[in-house]
Amino acid sequence: MAEKRDYYEVLGVAKTATKDEIKKAYRKLSKKYHPDINKEADAEEKFKEISDAYEVLSDDQKRAAYDQYGHAATDGGFGGGGFGGGGYQSYGGGGFEDIFEQFFGGGGGFGGFGGSSRTANPNAPQQGDDLQYNMDLAFEEAIFGTSKTISYRREVDCKVCGGSGAEPSTAVHTCATCSGTGVEKVYQQTPLGRVVSQTVCHTCNGKGKTFDQACNHCHGAGRETETHEVKVNVPAGVEDGQSMRLNGQGNEGKNKGPAGHLYVVFRVKRSEIFERNGAEIKYELPINFAQAALGDEVEVPTVHGKVTMKVPAGTQTGTSFRLKGKGAPKLNGNTNGDQTVTVRVVTPKNLNDEQKASLRAFARASHAEVSEEDKGFFDKLKDAFS
Ligand SMILES: [Zn+2]
Ligand SMILES: [Zn+2]
Repeated sequence: MAEKRDYYEVLGVAKTATKDEIKKAYRKLSKKYHPDINKEADAEEKFKEISDAYEVLSDDQKRAAYDQYGHAATDGGFGGGGFGGGGYQSYGGGGFEDIFEQFFGGGGGFGGFGGSSRTANPNAPQQGDDLQYNMDLAFEEAIFGTSKTISYRREVDCKVCGGSGAEPSTAVHTCATCSGTGVEKVYQQTPLGRVVSQTVCHTCNGKGKTFDQACNHCHGAGRETETHEVKVNVPAGVEDGQSMRLNGQGNEGKNKGPAGHLYVVFRVKRSEIFERNGAEIKYELPINFAQAALGDEVEVPTVHGKVTMKVPAGTQTGTSFRLKGKGAPKLNGNTNGDQTVTVRVVTPKNLNDEQKASLRAFARASHAEVSEEDKGFFDKLKDAFS
């Protein structure tokens, strides 16, 4: 292909020319060199040169691209049907792709053109995918921490071919479809002219190489899955739904890229006795009304073992007591949360005669001076007797 003249030079205008100046110059020259009028030998070629220059310089976007990158910005991509499809190849070395990266990359203004999406270089190192593992934990395991060895499948490079997909010792060739670049160009006619885009080469799947015989072990994929074991130290105090990242324990990277991560998500079983809210543990303590009225010392379960707790005389149902440090460990701290004990006064349903008699005596002795607070308690007692 002949060296192209500068488009401004072709139209005989300055680089700073206005749209009007460009239009006037084009009209004048196109009349002069129109093949129907001008019978000189090179008129047709000149006319085409003028038309091409005008097509680019009259369009703000194409002109900006041309100003920045020269003819490389317009050949094959913006230039319309006039240029041979092969012209761009002389730019080689990725320069052409780089230009289109700037115009089409990153989901920019041209994203609307179907099929013009770009593909990352498939031969560049790629980080492996992250994986997730759901780990079931007993209520106590989450509180005190534990250590478990887990086993899961992850993707790695094929052990036989090392990721190439080729049977060892088979002949390897440069891919004929993409000349070893791993990418194929796709041309598309759009309202703005011809647009070139890239896809991963369908012949070599982006590797740039083909081989006579695919690896028998991975059938050419270059990858396989293996069972992987890793020991997970579950920290004390984790909660349901929390996760932990184990760096590099996900899928192996491709092309020597780093491995992905493994996210271990904890699923903590509920307790039948306790309720947990972060580091705080809640426990509901049933007592009878005699204990509530007279006070008592009771044994209360905690995750750390049983403790003795004093219920003061006159304790109302719903009253909470705090057992300091008897909750779950606080993550990233050396202290424990508390256990709250909420008292529930249980009204008896089946009283024997002796219990009934003493309650009646109690009611007679106190009916004259029932406080507001006591009313609820006595209402329940009445219910029990009714
Ligand atoms: Zn293989
Ligand atoms: Zn190829």
